Amino acid sequence: MPRKPSACPECGSKKVIPIEYGYPADMGAYLKAVDEGRFAPGGCCVDESNPDWHCRDCEHRW
Ligand SMILES: [Zn+2]
Repeated sequence: MPRKPSACPECGSKKVIPIEYGYPADMGAYLKAVDEGRFAPGGCCVDESNPDWHCRDCEHRW
């Protein structure tokens, strides 16, 4: 995974979180972390073009 960007390229927000892919082993902990804004759920399909980062302000993904 690339280094975490310091800000969203679209709106400049610093509320950038990683997008996690794959099925979580511990669904409870996973949902809690999503709730707390530690990362965004990316679904279970992983391919080369999937975005790595999610902006919590404008929902932009890149
Ligand atoms: Zn943004």
